This record gives sequence, C-alpha cells and structure tokens, in this order.
Amino acid sequence: MNNSGKIAIPKIELHVHFEGCIGPELMARMRAGEKISRPELDALYSFDNFPGFLKAYARVMAALEQPGDFREAAGFIAARLAARGVVYVEFTFTPLPHVRRGLEHGRVIEAVLAGLEDARAAGAKLQAAFIYDTVRQWGGEAAEQSARLAVADMKAGLPVVGFGVGGDELGCPATELQPAFEMAAAAGLKRYVHAGEVGGPQSVREAVEILGASRIGHGIAAAGDPELLAELARRGVCLDVCPTSNLFTRAVDSYEKNPWPAIAAAGVPVTIGSDDPGFFGAWLDEELERCAAAWQLDQAALRGLMVTAARHSFQPREKREELETIVAGI
Ligand SMILES: [Zn+2]
Repeated sequence: MNNSGKIAIPKIELHVHFEGCIGPELMARMRAGEKISRPELDALYSFDNFPGFLKAYARVMAALEQPGDFREAAGFIAARLAARGVVYVEFTFTPLPHVRRGLEHGRVIEAVLAGLEDARAAGAKLQAAFIYDTVRQWGGEAAEQSARLAVADMKAGLPVVGFGVGGDELGCPATELQPAFEMAAAAGLKRYVHAGEVGGPQSVREAVEILGASRIGHGIAAAGDPELLAELARRGVCLDVCPTSNLFTRAVDSYEKNPWPAIAAAGVPVTIGSDDPGFFGAWLDEELERCAAAWQLDQAALRGLMVTAARHSFQPREKREELETIVAGI
C-alpha cells in the first residue's frame, strides 16, 4: 500500500486542497462529470494560464451538487492518497463557497467524512484532518463566518485542527482578517495562511505577525529577505511549499529555481505539498519524485521532509510523535 514509484516511503501531506484533488479521472466518474464529453473534460484540464485554472476550478465546484457528490469525491481521493503512500493528510477545505451555493454545511462535511470512512472500509490506511479556510477576497465578515464553522465543528468533535485563508493573497488586508483568526485561535485551532506566493515578503510577515500563522502555504517570497527568514526560523514557522503549483501559477519558472532549499538551509522548517494535484497533475509522490530529481534528494532527505511535516502538523504532541515514528521508519 505504501508503495508508489521510486518514493516508497510513508508520506504526510500538509498542503492540499480537498476540491483541488478532483482531477479529470474523478470528474469523469461523478454525476455532473458524466454529462461532459471526454474531449471537453481533457480540454478543461489542459489550461496553461491562471484564468484557465479558475475556469476548471469553477466547473469542479459546480460538479459538487449534493452531499453524495462530496462522499464519492472523498472516497476516491482518500483511496488515491493512500495508494500513493500518504498516511496522514491535513486537507484544506473551504466551506463557504458551498454554503453560498445553497448547500447545508453540516450535510456536506458529514458526507466528506463518510467518504473517508468508505475508503478506510475498503482498506485505505489514511488518517485525515481538516483546516477550514476562508476566501481572502471575500473579506473580514466571510472570514468570521468561516471561523465560526471551524470552531463549531471542532467543538462537535470533528477532525478540524486549523483555520486558514486562501484565495487572492492581495485581496484583503491582514488586519481585516485578524478578528477571525483570533476567534479561531482562542478556541484552540492552529492558524494557516497562504502568503508569499504572489505577494512579497511583507505578506509573509503579516501572516505571522498579524494573523499569528504557525504554518504558511507557499511563503517562498521570504527567500529574498534574510531578516524575515531569521524570524521564521526563530519562531519555528513552517512553510508548506508546492513546487509544481508554483510553476503553474508562474511564481517560479523551474523546479531548479524554486527557493525552498535555500529557505530550509536558513533554518526554516519546510514541507512539500501538492496543493491541487487534480489540476496540476502531480500527487505528493510525483511531487517528491520531481524534487528528488531537481535537487538530488536521497531517501534520507525525503524522509527528513516527512519528519518535518510530522512535527509541524496541527495535531496534538502525542499524535505528532506517533506520525514522526511512522515516517522516520524507526
Ligand atoms: Zn494552497
């Protein structure tokens, strides 16, 4: 089960969006996808620019018409991750767009969890938790609404471990999102902020200083700022870098030019994630394979990345140690 290509180590995925896992193969099996011809589906996923990505993403969101669609997607995604050797995943899940489309959040998340159970019942050895995030350009009020959903579900015993923000990095000042992040933190959720992919080092600084992020999605812009790198290292803020995603969004123009090794060399914890594997075509094992090729990473270095991921997951200490033992192979 833990075998996939050359990267046959147990893996931890900390930066992956649930909806971003819905690629052409899964879409073709879904009710809404069945209505789309295969050539049309292939064309939808053959985008080479950001508007093309957004168009595909919108189509995927629209395919999630009812709770049963979420259950089917979750089952497929969990089986796929497990087959690629992922033992623990922290899905970023964005409830608000579904709520705004008229779906009842409680039924949606219940269906997602049921899908994960379906996969486990079929043999997938995957543990999963969720970071609920908000859409940055929707502003402070939406952020608070999202944070309330995260807190309520955590309190209800659902595996929600964090609150975060994604979307347009430049779409709303950090100060406007601060009350939502404070509310989430006060309830015991960890804070996750997408920053430093299209925004500069300042967006990373604000994520940490204003929003209290203990992990950053991307954050590669910090590479140009030695003072910021020192601060991230001092605070132990982890960057979840997604090299293939960075290529698609044109944040970086080759694997070799991705600055994550330099960031890690500065003492900042770094993990590797796949972001939207359904859209970018690389699941975590493939992402690691590409990283290994670009930077000559050996098995020990890859395991080291997984150990960092275990240590920086949003789970309580005991669970983090358990994960570390699994991925370290000891
Ligand atoms: Zn992301």
